[in-house]
Amino acid sequence: TNDVLDQWDRENFFHPSTHLAQHARGESASRIISGAKDCHIEDRNGNRVLDGFAGLYCVNAGYGRREITDAIAKQASELSYYHAYAGHGTEASITLAKMVMDRAPAHMSKVYFGLGGSDANETNIKLLWYYNNILGRPEKKKVISRWRGYHGSGLMTGSLTGLSLFHAKFDLPLDGVLHTVAPDFFRRENLEQSEAEFVAYCVEHLEEMIALEGADTIAAFIGEPVLGTGGIVPPPEGYWAAIQAVLQKHDIALIADEVVTGFGRLGSMFGSDHYDLKPDFITIAKGLTSAYAPLSGSIVSDKVWKVLEQGADENGVMGHGWTYAAHPIGAAAGVANLQLIEDLDLIGNARDVGAYLNQQMRAAVGDHPHVGDVRGEGMLCAVELVKDREGRKFYDPADKIGVQVVAALLSSGVIGRAMPQGDIIGFAPPFCLTRAEADEIVEKTKAAIHQVLGA
Ligand code: PLP
Repeated sequence: TNDVLDQWDRENFFHPSTHLAQHARGESASRIISGAKDCHIEDRNGNRVLDGFAGLYCVNAGYGRREITDAIAKQASELSYYHAYAGHGTEASITLAKMVMDRAPAHMSKVYFGLGGSDANETNIKLLWYYNNILGRPEKKKVISRWRGYHGSGLMTGSLTGLSLFHAKFDLPLDGVLHTVAPDFFRRENLEQSEAEFVAYCVEHLEEMIALEGADTIAAFIGEPVLGTGGIVPPPEGYWAAIQAVLQKHDIALIADEVVTGFGRLGSMFGSDHYDLKPDFITIAKGLTSAYAPLSGSIVSDKVWKVLEQGADENGVMGHGWTYAAHPIGAAAGVANLQLIEDLDLIGNARDVGAYLNQQMRAAVGDHPHVGDVRGEGMLCAVELVKDREGRKFYDPADKIGVQVVAALLSSGVIGRAMPQGDIIGFAPPFCLTRAEADEIVEKTKAAIHQVLGA
């Protein structure tokens, strides 16, 4: 029964991102999810809710897709595992590599498969250090990230993540990881700045950091095309073009972390297409398999691959790999998922219904006295709550206003996410969201805001 599972859960299961003190006090409620279909999930007590965050913005194709689960079952029964080391492959992993590279920007060359977004970003950094070693410049090693960027939870990737929650008490960030300005125009410190002036300020901060550290010590700049976990913040106009110009000038590689944006979330195949980025590495995970099985990838550019190839002659084997890299079950899920997304034009739906969701959300809550900003891109939408709209004053984080709104929303049957930084309610539904479901998210968000903050 649920009672037994509750007890076993509390006694045995150390959950990620757990509130340890609440757990110790016995206050952490188990949430046992038992089934899901399209955009809805269901718990063991039969409560059915609309998942406005697609799990952790990963179930892009929607839940319960037979095309994907059948492909997984077939793969599992025919060949559940073989490794990918030293030239080994499977029909699924080789087919998926071809499908990924056919869809990636034209200047990209190869994909290195991993398990999740964090390990793919670790791979990117290691490949880049290897690359700089081959080029005889091992000291070109530091990595610049942005405050409020999210790149994972490993030692390096947790360091790259620019959220203090991921650093505190872990002794992170590691040496050699630097953070520059978050490209969040709404939260700019100087309210006098225009959008163009704010972009100039971001560029200036980056230039100063590079001058101070020395370009010959900096390997890469990593960024999400749209800041995700840090608050769902599309970049200000002209931001990426200006940042890329600085990176090119100083021969600093660009890593586009497309774990959230890859395979359609912005309404384009990649965020790099959407914002005209020319990255040296692209990180992919979540949407690669719509989370039907774990799989990630580091896509490397022609420029990087050509150098790595030379290194192989001199150094032999590159000592980097995971047992489960290119796992056939993940690869089979990826092949079926990418096929399905195209067959049903789910990226077109993400674009159309995402635009509708954003437009309706803006119309419904944009004028509320405690809504400072409504923003989004493709099938991403965020509502930022403020204490005082005119003076753009924020709430005290201890009041947990965003958490309260999300709780009210959940009790009305919709999942939104209180983003870890600030009182920002995030939405990233599956791409198959209908207009009626978008309306439901909007109406219930409005009601939840009114319930917590008044009309
Ligand atoms: N990069 C980005 C942009 C992410 O949003 C995430 C996870 O949310 C990661 C990396 C880490 O991926 P994972 O949790 O699969 O390790």
